[in-house]
This record gives sequence, structure tokens and C-alpha cells, in this order.
Amino acid sequence: MKIGVLGAGSAGSMIAIRLANLGYQVDLIDRQPFPITEASLHNEGKLHFGYVYAADTTKKTAMGVAEGSLSFLDTLSKELEVPSATFSKSQPFYYGVPHDSLLSPEDIADHFSYVDTLIEGHLAASKPVAATDYNAIGFDPDQFQLVMQTQEISVDTAQVGRLIAGCVGSHPNINFRSRTQVQNAATSGDKYRVKLAQVGGDEGYEDYDAVFNCLWGGRLQLDRHLGLDISRPHLMRYKVAIKFDGIRDLARIPSVTLMLGEYGDVVNHGNGSYYLSWYPVCKIAETVGDNPDELFAAFDACDKEGVVRRSIDALAQFIPSIQEFHKHLNRASVHGGIICSWGHEPIPDLDAEIHQRFDVGVNRSGNWFSIDTGKYCMGPNMALEAVDRLLA
Ligand SMILES: Cc1cc2nc3c(=O)[nH]c(=O)nc-3n(C[C@H](O)[C@H](O)[C@H](O)COP(=O)(O)OP(=O)(O)OC[C@H]3O[C@@H](n4cnc5c(N)ncnc54)[C@H](O)[C@@H]3O)c2cc1C
Repeated sequence: MKIGVLGAGSAGSMIAIRLANLGYQVDLIDRQPFPITEASLHNEGKLHFGYVYAADTTKKTAMGVAEGSLSFLDTLSKELEVPSATFSKSQPFYYGVPHDSLLSPEDIADHFSYVDTLIEGHLAASKPVAATDYNAIGFDPDQFQLVMQTQEISVDTAQVGRLIAGCVGSHPNINFRSRTQVQNAATSGDKYRVKLAQVGGDEGYEDYDAVFNCLWGGRLQLDRHLGLDISRPHLMRYKVAIKFDGIRDLARIPSVTLMLGEYGDVVNHGNGSYYLSWYPVCKIAETVGDNPDELFAAFDACDKEGVVRRSIDALAQFIPSIQEFHKHLNRASVHGGIICSWGHEPIPDLDAEIHQRFDVGVNRSGNWFSIDTGKYCMGPNMALEAVDRLLA
């Protein structure tokens, strides 16, 4: 069976590695020179248990992300053949609920109790932080109506990316076709014909018995020709990840997510590396179409230093010590990636599908598999499921 995997993000790379480990020869195709260069690198790396998805009253989002996150490191460890202790973990997250949160502290506390049942037996439950301790953990006491302490962590996406890319590069069963643009695809008898073009070079066609479409932002453009229904309203946003590296002298920077609304996050990786994001500033552009090119153009054109400065100022209203990052602007890097979700409505609409990330996963038409990763934390688990479905 000739198998093509389109897109070498975390989903595509892990599908290729899983198939290769099972003895199958795989073509893994990407426009970039290396695997893991886009959303799977430039994201927050949070292994969600679902605390932030409090507006999804069905609780299905929390169930999905918790399942993916609880197995994330074990799956990587097994498939990449590295000890699980290899993976570095951030300081665990606090969740801060500002006074203008879209949900009340009571509703959020109820939701946290539910999520705690999902991780029971694996990790300790969340617990409220006493208001008298807000200052000690770096929070401005006047800004919050509730602060919860959790065991959720982020991984270092660059480290995970290097390990995945190393495995792809050294695996004898993976043919990594770098700098190769996927242009379109169609059925051809009982095969799938994929049109490929070397970046800045020749074009050609490749026929496959089975294809995994893991192009993330480029996914829907192809699916429309392969019998999958893409008429459902969807939204693609380009969001920036601000990363700081090599800062050794900062005190009291917690890992924190503010909820629920258009707020932001901070990750303290505990080794001098940090991630910052303030949603209204870091969401650079969005489209309801299925062509992401305008999003990449908007990112190229945006004022990156302005994005960093305004994000620091916004986060510092809640976590005053974040102001310290202004002294380290030379250590900031600004990259980003696409976020795909169903629905068109913005975050402040509590009924928006953006609050529901459970309707993701593996869509199939014949042996064409289209992978909607949904979240980074779900990628490895979804890769195993996709391969199982081909081989079942
Ligand atoms: C700023 C930010 C923060 C986030 N934070 C989190 C988080 O904390 N936790 C979480 O779980 N999720 C998070 N996410 C979501 C997460 O990053 C994505 O869901 C996930 O990484 C998508 O993985 P993927 O493999 O599907 O896509 P990608 O990693 O984007 O991989 C797609 C690959 O396809 C290639 N490609 C695309 N089109 C073509 C083409 N036409 N031809 C050839 N190659 C092509 C690209 O080069 C790329 O390598 C975040 C996203 C962003 C942007």
C-alpha cells in the first residue's frame, strides 16, 4: 500500500511515525524544510484537561482534551522511543477569573469540579487559592474574583518538535519530501492523485492508495474535491505566540490562564523561557474562507514589537511583574500559527462554537483521511486513531 501523509505538523508527523513503526513505507510531504515549523511549534504547548472550556455545557470538549492530554507524553515516549522523563514541563497553571469574566466564579468552580473528576487517579484536583495569597503568587488582588490552582502544564513545543523531527529524519521507512507544496488532489480510479510542486521548482503528480490530509490551515481546500462536506461555517484565525528565552532573573512569574473571555496566558517553563499571549492583540487576523494565505500576509505585515509591548502591558494589569519583560525585548521572538474552529461567532458569545472543540478528529471518505487536530494536545492520540482506522 502506497501511503502519502500531507503536512508534517504534529498530526502528520506522528501518523507517519506510527505507520513507519508498524513497518509501512510512507511519504511525508511538507512545504517547509523541516517537520514541525508552524502551529505545532508556535503554540502554547498546554496539555489541556479542559478547565478553560467552561462554556461548553455538554462537557464534551473537556472530555476530549483531557483524554488526549493524559496520554500525550506516553504516546510520544513510546512512538519516538525516548523516556517520558525526557520531556520538560512548565510550572503548573493557575487560573484567574477577572471581575468581567463571561462566566460567574460559581459556574467556573462547578466546571473545575467536573474536570477534576476526569483527571482523578492521574493528577491532584484543582483547589482555590485564598485571596490573601494572591499577592504572593504574583496576582494583583484587586483584579480577581477567583483564582484556582491546577496541575495542568505546558510542554516545550520546540523540544517536542526537535524529537519528532529527529525521528522523521532518521526513520528508514519515512521518505520526508521537504520544500514540496501540495497544490491539489483528486480521486483517480481507486487511487488518490496529489499534485505537488517543489517550492520554486518542478511540478508533478503522485498516486497513493491512502492519504492523510494533515495540512491544518490548508486542509479544507483539498477536502472539497474528495467528497467531504466542508460547507459548515468555520473560522481560521492567525494567532501569535510570544516567546522569551534565556531570562534568568525574573521573580514571581506564574503560569496563568485568565478566563473566561478575550484575555491571555503566561507560561513559565521554569528554565528561563516564557510564553506570553494577550488574545485581542495576538489574534492578528481571521477569515471565514478556506484559504489561509491572507492570514500569513497579515502576520508578515504586523508590527511585531508593538504586539509584544501591548501584550506585556495588558497582562501586567493582572500580573504586575509581567512589566519586567519590557527590559528583555531583545530576547522576545514573535511567531504564530493558524487556529481552525467551527462556527463564525466571536469568543464573547457564550453559545459560540469556538467554546466547543469536541467535534474534531478523523474524517474519512474512502481511504482519504482528513485530520482536524483541534488542539495540539490531541495530536498524538488522534494520530494513533487515524492509523487504526486505515488498518482496521
Ligand atoms: C498561538 C497558538 C497557541 C496555541 N496553544 C495551544 C495550546 O496551548 N494547546 C493546544 O492543545 N493547542 C494549542 N494551539 C493549537 C495547536 O497549535 C494546533 O491545533 C496544532 O498544532 C495543529 O497541528 P497540525 O499538525 O494539525 O498543524 P500544523 O502544525 O500547522 O501542521 C500543518 C503542516 O502542514 C504544512 N502545510 C500546510 N499547507 C501545506 C501545503 N499546501 N503544502 C505543503 N505543506 C503544507 C505546514 O507547513 C505544516 O507543517 C495553539 C495554536 C496557536 C496558533
